[in-house]
Amino acid sequence: MTKPTPTNLMAIFPHWQRHAAFQHLRHDAHTAEDVAHFQQFARKAHDHELYRANPRYLAQKMGWTEGHTLDFLILAVEEGLLDFEWEVYCPVCGALLQRTHEFHRLESHQHCEMCHNDADIRLDEEITPRVSAQNMLRRLHPSRRDRADFRAQVDESLGRLPALHLVNRSLFREKLGSQVLPNNHSLGVQHLVVFFSDLKQSTQLYQTLGDAAAYRLVRQHFEIIFDAIERHGGAAVKTIGDGVMGTFFDNTAALRGVVESVRGIQQLNQQAALTEPQQLHLKVGMHAGPCIVVTLNNRLDYFGSTVNIAARLSDLAQGDDIWLTKAVLNDPDTLTLAEEFPCDCDQKIQLRDIHRTIEVCRLQL
Ligand SMILES: [Zn+2]
Repeated sequence: MTKPTPTNLMAIFPHWQRHAAFQHLRHDAHTAEDVAHFQQFARKAHDHELYRANPRYLAQKMGWTEGHTLDFLILAVEEGLLDFEWEVYCPVCGALLQRTHEFHRLESHQHCEMCHNDADIRLDEEITPRVSAQNMLRRLHPSRRDRADFRAQVDESLGRLPALHLVNRSLFREKLGSQVLPNNHSLGVQHLVVFFSDLKQSTQLYQTLGDAAAYRLVRQHFEIIFDAIERHGGAAVKTIGDGVMGTFFDNTAALRGVVESVRGIQQLNQQAALTEPQQLHLKVGMHAGPCIVVTLNNRLDYFGSTVNIAARLSDLAQGDDIWLTKAVLNDPDTLTLAEEFPCDCDQKIQLRDIHRTIEVCRLQL
C-alpha cells in the first residue's frame, strides 16, 4: 500500500468529512430518506442552483414544506455542508443594499445610493437569507455558479423568504444561536405575534403536591406547549418561571398553537386524573405588531410594546382562557378560528404603563 501523499489526503479529506456530516444529519431528526434525497439533488443540481439559493427554491426542489426545509438547512449549515448569507434590499427601489455572511453585520438603518432614501431594515421585510454549498458538500465552479438572472427569476416566482421565517425557528435559535447581534444593536420586525402563557396558582400546586411531583407536571406542561408551538411553525423564545414566551409570524398559526396548548393541558389534567386544586390551568395573553430583535445573554430575544402588552394580558387571564387583541384578530382566518370559542369580545382596557386603551377579546376554552 502506498502512503498517501499530501495531495491524496486533500482529496480524501473532504469526502470523509462530508460522509461524517451526512451521518450526523441522519441522527438529527431527519430520516435517512431525507438525507439521501438531498444528497441526490446536491449531486445532480447545476452549480447556480446551489449558490445563493432562495430557500424556497430548495423547498420546491425537495418537495418539502418551508418549515421542514429550513430545519434541514439549519442542520446542514451546522455540519458545514451549506452556508447562510444575508441580503438586504431597499424597500423603495429594490436595490441590493448589503450582503453579508455574518448576521451581526446587518445594519438596522441604511441609505440607498440608488434612490437616495433612508430605510429601516426589518427582519421580515428587507432581509432575506441565501444558501450556498460549501466545498465539503460540493465544489462549485467560480465562473458558473453566480447567476443573478436565475436568482431574480426564482425570487419573482416564489418570493424572497423573509429572514424572520428562518431566525424565528426554534432549531435556528438552538443550533445557530451564535448568530447573535452585538450589544446595543437591534433589528426591527414589522409584524410578530407574541404570546405569554402562565399557570394559574402554580404556588398552590407546589404546596399541595410537593416540589418534585409538581415540577414533573410543570415539565410535562412545558413539553405540551413546546410541541404545539413547533407544530405551527412558531418559536419558544424562553421560559419565565412556569411561563413561556413564544412567537409566530402568522396570526392564525399562533392562535392554533395557543389553543392546542390550552387543550393539551386540559387533557393532561384528565390523563393524570388531577382534581382541584392540583389541576393545571393555562393563562394566555397574545398581541401582534412591530417589535425589535436584540441579543440578551447570547440569545436572540424580542422587545417592545407588542411584547409588553402580550405579557400584561397573560396577567389578566384567569385560567383556560386566551386574551388577545384586535391586532391578532385583524385577519379573516384568525377571526373565523376565534369564533369557534365562547368569547367576551370588544372589551376596552387600560393596562398599567401603556398609554392607550387596548381592544381585547377573551376566549374561553
Ligand atoms: Zn433604493
